[in-house]
Amino acid sequence: MRVVLLGAPGAGKGTQCKRIVDRYGVSHLSSGDILRRNRSEGTELGNKAKSYMDAGALVPDDLVVAMMVEAIKEVSDKGFVLDGFPRTVNQAEELDKTLAENGESIDLVLNLQIDDQIVMQRMTGRRSCPKCGAVYHIENLKPKVDGICDKDGTELIQRPDDKPEVVENRLQTYHRQTEPVVDYYRRDNRVYDVDAGKSVDRTSEEIYGKLDALVST
Ligand code: ADP
Ligand code: ADP
Repeated sequence: MRVVLLGAPGAGKGTQCKRIVDRYGVSHLSSGDILRRNRSEGTELGNKAKSYMDAGALVPDDLVVAMMVEAIKEVSDKGFVLDGFPRTVNQAEELDKTLAENGESIDLVLNLQIDDQIVMQRMTGRRSCPKCGAVYHIENLKPKVDGICDKDGTELIQRPDDKPEVVENRLQTYHRQTEPVVDYYRRDNRVYDVDAGKSVDRTSEEIYGKLDALVST
């Protein structure tokens, strides 16, 4: 299974990817998580990416493409679900080229559709575990104990780029640079639109329906 999840920041890509991994055993490749890991480890890539991420802008394509091509090489035969990548048409083209070199391609693109107003509520209420990456929401998906990760007891943080002023920039970046990626994939009918304004469970059900059909073919 080689699947891409597209959607605005806050659409629920990471949340749904974790469920897809549990159900189908594929690898979850999140460009945002890999970039944040590089930052916390102080790698050259992490240092280069920092200023772009803090401003809500995209990290340059060449850096992100090289990083994701490396990550894809490591995955198991079960395949992968890409989260946050590709985010520009150029990245999508580079991804297709790289996969084609091995006779592979993206099977399906799940496009999580959501209104900008809901995005703002989801992003500003998001809380993340800096240790394991688990994601919660102060109203929609609360941890068992306020402010503490269920999985490892670490204190949850608000990502600096989830503050309202940066969210605004990220949304603009999404509409300008990432929405054209949906059109790129629509050209050869690879896109399935999902209403991501529903509950987490109902959104998952819709996604499973599509992915169950894919794995049984
Ligand atoms: P979200 O899922 O909330 O949109 P991510 O965690 O995917 O956020 O991304 C956080 C930041 O990392 C982005 O705002 C951007 O600066 C950078 N980033 C992540 N993926 C990419 C990508 N494919 N291309 C360029 N920049 C990226
Ligand atoms: P993305 O990876 O697309 O940026 P996340 O999966 O991190 O999005 O979700 C953004 C925030 O919204 C998180 O706080 C998450 O707990 C919450 N969330 C995700 N899906 C839903 C949903 N269907 N309904 C309500 N809240 C959701």
